[in-house]
Amino acid sequence: MHISISSKCVGCGACAIINPEIFEINSNFAVVNPNFISGNEESCIDAALECPVSAIQILG
Ligand code: SF4
Repeated sequence: MHISISSKCVGCGACAIINPEIFEINSNFAVVNPNFISGNEESCIDAALECPVSAIQILG
C-alpha cells in the first residue's frame, strides 16, 4: 500500500488522530510515515474515509 496526500489537505488533523504513527501534521499539512503502513492498512483506509476533503490517496 502506498499513501499520498494531495494538495487539498487542510491540515485538520483527523488522520493523525486516527493513526498518529502514520499521519503527522507539519505546517498545516499532513505528512505520511510509510514505515508503519504495513499491518495498519485498515486504519489508513479509515483515515482516508474520514478526511473531510478526500486528500488521502491510497494506491495498491
Ligand atoms: S484528514 Fe485530510 S485534510 Fe485533515 S489533515 Fe489529514 S489529509 Fe489533511
